[in-house]
Amino acid sequence: MTIEISRRIRLAAKSEERQKTRVKIGDVEIGGRKIAVIAGPCSVESREQLMEAAREVKAARASMLRGGAFKPRTLPYSFQGLGEEGLKILADAREEYGLPIVTEVMSPENVGLVERYADVLQIGARNIQNYPLLKRVGKAGKPVLLKRGLASTIEEWLSAAEYVLDGGNEDVILCERGIRAYQKLTRFTLDITAVPLLKEVSHLPVVVDPSHGTGHRSLVAPMARAAVAAGADGLLIEVHPMPEEAKSDGAQSLTPEGFNSLMRGLSPIAEAMGRTL
Ligand code: PEP
Ligand code: MN
Repeated sequence: MTIEISRRIRLAAKSEERQKTRVKIGDVEIGGRKIAVIAGPCSVESREQLMEAAREVKAARASMLRGGAFKPRTLPYSFQGLGEEGLKILADAREEYGLPIVTEVMSPENVGLVERYADVLQIGARNIQNYPLLKRVGKAGKPVLLKRGLASTIEEWLSAAEYVLDGGNEDVILCERGIRAYQKLTRFTLDITAVPLLKEVSHLPVVVDPSHGTGHRSLVAPMARAAVAAGADGLLIEVHPMPEEAKSDGAQSLTPEGFNSLMRGLSPIAEAMGRTL
């Protein structure tokens, strides 16, 4: 090992006993040979929108369905999500299409509620320092997708994972989603280096989100390819049946056709990496 992290990060760090963690979500495994693709809209907006998105991403061979019911928005005037109604729609889509559900939980009080519907609890970038929330999902019975904070170092991110692991929840998936840098033409700067670096210092599976990481639809597929080439265990991709009408993150959302073409373009790269899609 050439890179060393703080010794105080114990549970998230790679060790003799813990070389590689595979997180199982029903039939899906994150951290195995198959690359898990989590796809769907930024927000659950309506039953029609979510069902259509689910049908399309399933047809393109996504492994899991995403969609936010509780949305962390910069302004209070923006769409805040459908709340429990959104969770019910997600659960119905799982029933219909057989895709496990990934959805965000923003507050400790809502973990119980979200856990009743979701298969994976997403902790958003803005909540990586929400310690009561990290402790609460550490007690949850569902895997946690832990997004990197907007300005987190790798060690701060692993320290947040440590909270969840220390709470007793061993199923943590790290998600690189871009960090704030000086570049204004992209929404964030996707740190692809984080992938091989995390593989070196941690046993946890790593997923990359090129949608939030770039903010532009045209940059999503190239960065998804880069992520797989760098060794990512999965991808998180925003897909909307009609991106121009999306209530959040339309500019970075792929159309179903765009997602289908991304999946086709990824296959040879996955294969070159000894993975399947
Ligand atoms: C999202 O996944 O829609 C989201 C809000 O992501 P992040 O927390 O990475 O901004
Ligand atoms: Mn989003």
